[in-house]
This record gives sequence, C-alpha cells and structure tokens, in this order.
Amino acid sequence: MARTARLFVVSGPAGVGKGTLVARLRQLRPDLGLTVSATTRSPRPGEKDGVAYHFMTDEEFTAHVQAGDFLEWAQVHDHRYGTLRSEVDRCLQQGHSVVLEIDVQGARNVRRIYPDAVLVFIEPPSWELLVERLRGRGTESEESLRIRLADAKHELELAPSYDVRIVNDNLEQATNELAQAFDKYESYGGTTHNGNH
Ligand code: ADP
Ligand code: 5GP
Repeated sequence: MARTARLFVVSGPAGVGKGTLVARLRQLRPDLGLTVSATTRSPRPGEKDGVAYHFMTDEEFTAHVQAGDFLEWAQVHDHRYGTLRSEVDRCLQQGHSVVLEIDVQGARNVRRIYPDAVLVFIEPPSWELLVERLRGRGTESEESLRIRLADAKHELELAPSYDVRIVNDNLEQATNELAQAFDKYESYGGTTHNGNH
C-alpha cells in the first residue's frame, strides 16, 4: 500500500519514557528521519554535541532565531530548545517520515505550520511512577526535578487534544502501540486535523 511520509511529534512530561520509546521505535523503523534539536542547556554525561542535541550558547541560539532557522522553538523548563527547519524539510523531501521529540508548546507550533502533523502524547501509568522514573534516571538535580515535575502537571492536562495517546506502562507494548500508530497514519494519507488544536 502507498505510504505518505508524515511528520510525527512525540510529547509528554520529562521522565515518561519518550526517549526510550523513540529509540526502540527507530530500531523497528530505521527509515525514520532523524533530526537533532538545538538547545541552550548543558550536555549530560555521555551526551555528544550534534548527536543528542546541537548544544549552543544563548548568543548562538539567538542568532539562529533571528535568521529564521527554527521551524519552532520554545522555552522548556529552564532553557531554550528548537527544531531546525532545514533538517525536517530535508527528510520529508526525501520521502521519509520524521519524528520530533519536543515539548507541548513545540507540538502546538508545529501543528500550525504542518496541519497534517500527527501529535502523539506519551502518558505515565501513574504520577508516582513518573516521579520514580525521573528520579531513577539520575540525571536531574533536585531543583531541575522540581521544575520538571511542576511543568508535568500542566503538560498532562493537554493530553486530550492529541491525535494519539499512549500509556507507557509495559515498554514492549507501548513501543508496539507507537509503531502501529505510525503505520496507521502513514497508510492513511488524509488530514489529522480534528479541530482540537
Ligand atoms: P523522557 O525522554 O520522556 O524524559 P526517558 O526515556 O529518559 O524519558 O525515560 C526516563 C526513565 O524511565 C529512564 O530511566 C528509562 O529507562 C525509564 N523507563 C522508560 N520507559 C519505561 C517503562 N515502560 N517502564 C519502566 N521504566 C521505563
Ligand atoms: P531534556 O532537557 O530532558 O533533553 O528535554 C527537555 C524537554 O525539551 C523535553 O520535553 C523535550 O521533548 C523538549 N525538547 C527537546 N527538543 C526540543 C525542540 O527542538 N523543541 C521543543 N519545543 N522542545 C524540545
């Protein structure tokens, strides 16, 4: 069956498992376009520049904003993050679907520019498990944890406006649900816009 290259946006609170799920999806779908976001936050141990993110100073980020290089950018938690327009367009033009792992503000902005983007929200099985995962990852200071959890409360309220909602309880099952959602929207070439956004 003919497939349509789609722009997928995966959002959800910090620590819910977006990175883990998207990495597993990529193993099943090596054809998916990979875009690297820019950020002003510092690299965590093991994160490589140009792979995890394009790590930038505030001045560099501002220069890209002024040059119009970002498809979208947002202040998330305590830093700025943005998707480079050139990377998304290159993948779509080559006929590859693209997955962006970006925050809820970014998702809303992408929807404005690409009305047919598919918005996927990843939810935790419970608030307690979200806290446990974020703490268990061991990457955040107490202050950073506090900010991320406060933001999570607001982010979770936006789940009903997404095209697809997946509860990341069992990792295997959530990965399969994500892969099936991608298949469904790529097989169906029509619009996703349901008027909720
Ligand atoms: P995010 O990218 O949304 O911030 P991560 O992918 O970094 O989240 O996941 C946060 C933590 O939760 C990681 O330590 C990860 O191994 C763990 N995790 C992810 N999915 C699950 C799951 N289904 N069950 C248990 N732990 C999970
Ligand atoms: P982290 O600092 O944990 O890597 O990411 C923090 C948040 O920033 C996550 O919700 C992540 O999805 C979001 N994010 C990462 N890249 C982008 C981007 O390019 N644009 C937007 N709007 N959010 C992003």
